[in-house]
Amino acid sequence: MNLQEKMFREFEDKKIFEQARSFAFDYLNTAFERNVFPSEEAIGNLDEFAEELPAHPGEAASILAQLHRYGSPATVAQIGGRYFGFVNGGVIPVSLAARWLSDVWDQNAALYVISPLVSKLEEIVEGWFRQLLGLPERVVAGFVSGSSTAIFCGLAAARYRVLQNNNWDVNRKGLNGAPKIRVVAGRHAHATVIKAVALLGFGVDNIEWIDTDVQGRVAASAVPPLDGRTILILQAGNVNSGAFDDFESICKQAREAGAWIHIDGAFGLWAAASQQLRHLTRGIEYANSWSVDGHKTLNTPYDSGIVLCDDKEALVHALQASGAYIAYSDHKDGMLYTPEMSRRARAVELWAALKYLGKSGVDELVSGLHRRAAQFGRELQENGFTVLNDVVFNQVLVSCGDDELTRRTLKYIQQSGECWVGGSTWFDRAVIRISVCSWATTREDVSRSVRAFVAARDKAAEHSGQPQPHL
Ligand SMILES: *Cc1c(COP(=O)(O)O)cnc(C)c1O
Repeated sequence: MNLQEKMFREFEDKKIFEQARSFAFDYLNTAFERNVFPSEEAIGNLDEFAEELPAHPGEAASILAQLHRYGSPATVAQIGGRYFGFVNGGVIPVSLAARWLSDVWDQNAALYVISPLVSKLEEIVEGWFRQLLGLPERVVAGFVSGSSTAIFCGLAAARYRVLQNNNWDVNRKGLNGAPKIRVVAGRHAHATVIKAVALLGFGVDNIEWIDTDVQGRVAASAVPPLDGRTILILQAGNVNSGAFDDFESICKQAREAGAWIHIDGAFGLWAAASQQLRHLTRGIEYANSWSVDGHKTLNTPYDSGIVLCDDKEALVHALQASGAYIAYSDHKDGMLYTPEMSRRARAVELWAALKYLGKSGVDELVSGLHRRAAQFGRELQENGFTVLNDVVFNQVLVSCGDDELTRRTLKYIQQSGECWVGGSTWFDRAVIRISVCSWATTREDVSRSVRAFVAARDKAAEHSGQPQPHL
């Protein structure tokens, strides 16, 4: 049998797909109870993948078996309820299942003519986003890999529009000799904001930083005078504290001054979809562009981010490509709104998640993350830990008192396998950083994790003065 015949056979008899399904089901059966971080042995076994590039085609079944045997045990149990690292979302079952199906379709989301289905779903999801987040009807969406790219797109649209307003076509003339643009951002802007500023040629050293308050929020009184040459970058959800800038006071004024406002709302923008938390995002509708993730708060599979922009022309001019073979249509042509041309069909998972949850389900999901975070903070305080932030959303910053003990405790928590949390610094203090970002986290998951915190702190106190444990 030649290679082509072999591959036809694999699609025909579907054995490897049955096998993949069965491996995935094995994984699901243990995903909620296994150690949250892989064991040293499992990580060591990853060397099994360090082979020479095969000289000839292999056997599909054994390739999958190898992946399951050495890959599955070395995964981080992210879909379970006790992963609190970074701001990594869990996954909604139907959203994952929709992805499986759409993986088989293997659609390219570049153009309507390449996939009318994906174009339709992008249009529908775009409207649902506007509705859930309370954004104006004119807002358009681009479906990208995550907030890093979404921020880049929002700021690219900003660069295009602000320079255009100052009689400068950045696409044609570039930045050399262009009118100087001011980039104004809160000191706690996310690393990916800074990256986007660098990529777009503004220069990180040119950022005018706004000091934040003790929660990491930008207050209106701290914002310098703005003008029509300014891009103002605000934040819905501080990556450490979860705090929200004062949009209500800042946005309207900034808009009147003619500045472009971008809101990085990677995980926090979803507060707008919760009745209880909506007050945190009051005023976001006055911004010009927003970036938000599907794979964090909304719990879609990776990778999924969305740029939203109230100035379609600016976004499209900043990102579109032209070429004789590109056939734009009267429908939504995804590549007009994204830096990429070929893309996978991310709208499928977003559509499935939103269709499944509905408005009240999104509210329940978002409010639930907040409730669990608040419980975490409460129970940790009851056990003698210090919570350094107001738990307004899903983030909790914890200290054991002195930095050394905090860092040791963190290592022991990570080693325990009971849960996984990361570390950070908060106004020069070492902190354990908790992000509740999965629908799967239960009340008991939180209590169990708090017990792991207590045990780790006891162990850290006992071993103080000895070398730091390492993972
Ligand atoms: C996670 C995060 C980002 C980056 O998002 P990715 O989806 O990882 O690219 C940007 N800003 C904030 C506030 C975040 O939490």
